[in-house]
Amino acid sequence: MEAVVSLAKRRGFIFPGSEIYGGLSGTWDYGPLGLALKNNIKKLWWKMFVEEQEAIYGLDAAILMNPKVWEASGHASGFTDPLVECEKCQHRFREDQLEDKKKCPDCGGKLGEAKQFNMMFETKVGVGEGAINSYLRPETAQGIFANFKNIIDCFHPRLPFGIAQIGKAFRNEIAPRDFIFRQREFEQMELEYFVPEGEWEKHFEKWRNLMKDFAEAVGIDGVYENDKEDLAHYSKKTIDFEFEYPFGRNELWGLAYRTDFDLRAHSVSSGADLSYMDEEASEKIVPHVIEPSLGVDRTVLAVLLSAYTEDELGGEKRVYLKLPQTIAPIRAAVFPLLKNKEELVKKAREVFESLKTDFPNIVWDDNGNIGKRYRRQDEIGTPSCITIDFDTLEDDTVTVRDRDTGEQRRVAIADLKATL
Ligand code: ATP
Repeated sequence: MEAVVSLAKRRGFIFPGSEIYGGLSGTWDYGPLGLALKNNIKKLWWKMFVEEQEAIYGLDAAILMNPKVWEASGHASGFTDPLVECEKCQHRFREDQLEDKKKCPDCGGKLGEAKQFNMMFETKVGVGEGAINSYLRPETAQGIFANFKNIIDCFHPRLPFGIAQIGKAFRNEIAPRDFIFRQREFEQMELEYFVPEGEWEKHFEKWRNLMKDFAEAVGIDGVYENDKEDLAHYSKKTIDFEFEYPFGRNELWGLAYRTDFDLRAHSVSSGADLSYMDEEASEKIVPHVIEPSLGVDRTVLAVLLSAYTEDELGGEKRVYLKLPQTIAPIRAAVFPLLKNKEELVKKAREVFESLKTDFPNIVWDDNGNIGKRYRRQDEIGTPSCITIDFDTLEDDTVTVRDRDTGEQRRVAIADLKATL
């Protein structure tokens, strides 16, 4: 974990939030490479869970919502974790995560009684006396339920159909820890899939398989399914997809059968008709819901941990990220063999510029010797390095070097695009 956290900081993937002011616990900032990786992961999710599916509608709902949403959903009263405080060192812990619930894991002191602590961040919306108390959303799902009627009215979808959203969520976690695993501000990729009650098991299986495919597509080494016994108030079946982190096996994503709990609760609370007209049966029904919920940041963490590799290449130790090509922040790096040979630089610029339109995520590097440039690119997971040398000036071929094997082959400039 330390090696990955240090690489992430050193190479511009992920920085501690507000670092120059001593940080803010549970917040992290994504630098250029982390952002590129995260965007690629989100794009791939959108492709696999929205574009390649039928009848999935995209949404980008507001983070701030009417507080009645959170009363109806059960979050205002029930989105709590048990908080315990050490009577000696005053450190706070989530009781359900402690093995010994009486003794402080930091100083051995006695732990006090557990109190239920609501994890939603409260905020004021509006000014002065007209201000109301609301919350920063702790999940993106409720924005989807609140827009169910809008999607029905605009698009008249037939069951089954889904609504998908990627966005920020906020939770005032008692003990944020383990790098980006448990943060107070994070991102989720969520899909609510509306189905007739009798078909929920079939659809649950479909999304479960797609989540496994997604894990493979982003290069996560092994996900373990944990059929949960301790279910949330809205769920009749939940599977946690878990990953073997360096700090132990823990949740990566969740897949839940949420029944018709949310639509019914919002119907009662808002007075809006959140039913669906089943034309074949000529009756109104409230659809049931399957929810694949994937944390973006936990995905980034599992991807980085899976990709981090130390090996020996040409008798030298090296570190590289074996990221799949589809999500690597940089697709290829272009080098002139020597930076002080004008004709090499000129030719290399031509190659770089001709590729840049088709591959916006390629970079130029002419700093240090070739071996060092390879190591730098390996460490950030760049799949290919392209070197322009003296032979290029003669025969218009370049060297393309593969990150994982270190193998180099000559490729005609005209074939580069197809090769990449
Ligand atoms: P945990 O048990 O770890 O607190 P959870 O079961 O409360 O997580 P869900 O409410 O199911 O999590 O949220 C869906 C997904 O959002 C999780 O599977 C995870 O990927 C992500 N997630 C939840 N809380 C956090 C957090 N504090 N930081 C980063 N990602 C999170």
